[in-house]
Amino acid sequence: MRRPRTDRTTRKQRKSSFSVDYRRRKICRFCENKIDVIDYKDERMIRRFVSDRGKIIPRRISGSCARHQRQLTVAIKRGRHLGLLPYTSESFR
Ligand SMILES: [Zn+2]
Repeated sequence: MRRPRTDRTTRKQRKSSFSVDYRRRKICRFCENKIDVIDYKDERMIRRFVSDRGKIIPRRISGSCARHQRQLTVAIKRGRHLGLLPYTSESFR
């Protein structure tokens, strides 16, 4: 059965209000340490935001803010290119 349009809007509203106190907001690690520019050469720091399979940990899990997450993705990709970080899992040997 086709649902009326009004139902969709209410569902959207409910979702947005639900996500406000969905979980405790984690503090962005970079904002906390007042890091303006994420250094792609700082392997040890960046490694924390990469899973053991070499994937970038999403923002909703890492808790970093949009600005720093964006910088982080660039830093991780640069690190990969330089060989500091793995593209795929290294530990799965
Ligand atoms: Zn931040």
